[in-house]
Amino acid sequence: MSSFFSSKYNNLTPYTPGEQPKDMQYIKLNTNESPFSPSEKAVAYANEEAKKLQLYSDPECTLLNKKMAEYYGVETDNILMTNGSDEILNFAFMAFCDDTHPAAFADITYGFYPVFAALNHIPYEEIPLRDDFTLNVEDYIGISKTIFIANPNAPTGIAISVEDIKRILESNPNNIVVIDEAYVDFGGESCVPLINEYKNLLVTQTFSKSRSMAGARLGMGFACKELITDLNTVKYSTNPYNINRMTMAAGIGALEDDEYMKENCLAIIENRAYTTFALEDMGFSLTDSSTNFVFAKHPFVSGKEIYLKLKEMGILVRHFDKEKLTEYNRITIGTKEQMDAFIEATKKIIDEAL
Ligand code: PMP
Repeated sequence: MSSFFSSKYNNLTPYTPGEQPKDMQYIKLNTNESPFSPSEKAVAYANEEAKKLQLYSDPECTLLNKKMAEYYGVETDNILMTNGSDEILNFAFMAFCDDTHPAAFADITYGFYPVFAALNHIPYEEIPLRDDFTLNVEDYIGISKTIFIANPNAPTGIAISVEDIKRILESNPNNIVVIDEAYVDFGGESCVPLINEYKNLLVTQTFSKSRSMAGARLGMGFACKELITDLNTVKYSTNPYNINRMTMAAGIGALEDDEYMKENCLAIIENRAYTTFALEDMGFSLTDSSTNFVFAKHPFVSGKEIYLKLKEMGILVRHFDKEKLTEYNRITIGTKEQMDAFIEATKKIIDEAL
């Protein structure tokens, strides 16, 4: 750190992205990316758009917004496109939290929430999940805080029902409830249809997972138009051209190629069931995942040992050095071949350890 770094960031511990080692070719099951290429249409549109890179991108994101509105059955002013959903989450902390609207989220959830809170000097409460990692809805009833819930949650994969979310929304009418649906396409139930009924609801989603576009950085928020206006005020005060031309074009291509996305989600859901079965057969216990990853622990071999040995064998999974999570690994679901390699390696590790 230099002596120039502002003291206002003294308490900031930045988010740690999943490791991306370059020393060898790994089977990457550690960052919840899609194992499938992006849609060919997305790539073709992005290529074409690259020829116009001398021009700024459209700050209003007009064409993509129109496609999004048609696809999701909402109005264009119910949507804000952002640079990954991380950006809209940060905008939500900036727009809807302060000393009188502190943030609240689970103690085990997406690790960026406390970072955004610290970055924006927002007080926050971490509400413990139950021991089985399920969320107790009662803990969120009438708490009068700006609530962030990943649904399904990460790294646990567990989803809560839309009925439960409605109860949370209704009991906190003076606060925004942000539902982070990064993984919803793999089996969760979306709250997007509720945005006009609940004026305090913001739903965020991403093209990073189900649409295989993590590298394009495209996310979005859905809300009633007043909330989108607030979020736009933050966007135009930070980065009006937040979506680059190629990403905007790729997003349109991906939406036009919906069948491809649906097929890929089905393959992931099938491979998730296959992997779950194989891990349970080896004695692992797993949470009930509605996402493109599983969260698993073995009764006798530690999460860290499994993670390190898999890495030696060229397979990366995500291990969290955080109390309550150290026994677990989060394993992204890849292709059938990748999962077979993972299962075979894991069997070897368990057999050798026992
Ligand atoms: N929410 C959750 C729960 C996530 O796991 C992630 C991905 N790490 C994100 C949001 C952000 O994803 P992106 O910025 O790629 O849209």
